[in-house]
Amino acid sequence: MKNPPFEYHQPDTLEDAIQLLAVYGDEAKVLAGGQSLLPLMGLRLVRPSHVIDIGRVAGLGAISTESSGVSVGALVSHSMAERSEKLRTNAPLVHQAMPYVGHRAIRNRGTVCGSVAHADPAAEMPAVCRAAGASMIAVSSRGERAIEADEFFVGYLQTALDVDEILTEIRFPALAEGTGTAVVEVARRHGDYALVGLACSLTVESTITAAALSFFGAGSTPIRLGEVEQLLIGEEPNEAAFTTAAAAVRSSIEPSADVHGSANYRRYLAGVLTQRGLTQAASTVGVLA
Ligand SMILES: Cc1cc2nc3c(=O)[nH]c(=O)nc-3n(C[C@H](O)[C@H](O)[C@H](O)COP(=O)(O)OP(=O)(O)OC[C@H]3O[C@@H](n4cnc5c(N)ncnc54)[C@H](O)[C@@H]3O)c2cc1C
Repeated sequence: MKNPPFEYHQPDTLEDAIQLLAVYGDEAKVLAGGQSLLPLMGLRLVRPSHVIDIGRVAGLGAISTESSGVSVGALVSHSMAERSEKLRTNAPLVHQAMPYVGHRAIRNRGTVCGSVAHADPAAEMPAVCRAAGASMIAVSSRGERAIEADEFFVGYLQTALDVDEILTEIRFPALAEGTGTAVVEVARRHGDYALVGLACSLTVESTITAAALSFFGAGSTPIRLGEVEQLLIGEEPNEAAFTTAAAAVRSSIEPSADVHGSANYRRYLAGVLTQRGLTQAASTVGVLA
């Protein structure tokens, strides 16, 4: 696949990258790991006149912890995230999702922020961000702003980022005590995008006090099912509660069909994954009743 012609820019600083985006706007695309952008360009589905490679920009490659949580910089690859002890303990959903993200070679180049900026609804990381209540930090020549995950994913491959904004980091809030998490999915082959997947969490004191169910591969954006989450609050974390939640998911989720699976099959899978994911999440904190 041969790319259409474009002008290549390789800024060394964030200020220079932002300046280039301010000048070229919607004629430009940011290049991070290239694992999604380059195939799209090769297929002529995207034709930017300017490609701004942020790979050399200093200060974007860190995973840092603070009391409020953990942040992942724009150049943190999937593989770096997979190996990070800070993420395993502070944002376990990110760690749990990683083995499902493509194959090793893709995870070595592709970035966590790139996946979120790309916003493929079948990708793991956007759903993880919604389940975890992450904030996306967007920077442009107009300044910096934080966009909550619930506001960030606006449509198929569409986000709330403006054309001149760079996603410089994702902040995951600290986990409440007693929170268990899980990522589960069904794909036709290991490493493929999921037919349907779920990133979920449960916070348990004596009963469930908070729940998050964030589906991927089930719509044009990652889907949070707030009404099913509410059903779980106040319940004991046991098989009966999870079976009720799975049934509620099957009746409320509205996945679309494609060549890989019908809407009905995906709806069925979403129920199976709800039961499986919640059971795993409860097991990770030893609270399965
Ligand atoms: C064969 C194959 C299988 C794959 N399987 C999976 C899978 O199972 N699950 C999965 O989640 N992903 C999968 N991927 C995608 C992979 O995870 C990509 O790495 C990821 O989607 C994009 O990350 P990237 O750093 O490569 O971004 P790029 O390809 O460089 O960019 C992707 C898009 O995001 C924009 N962008 C990137 N970074 C920023 C930023 N910091 N600020 C603003 N905009 C930005 C770009 O302009 C572009 O529009 C697969 C890819 C391939 C080729």
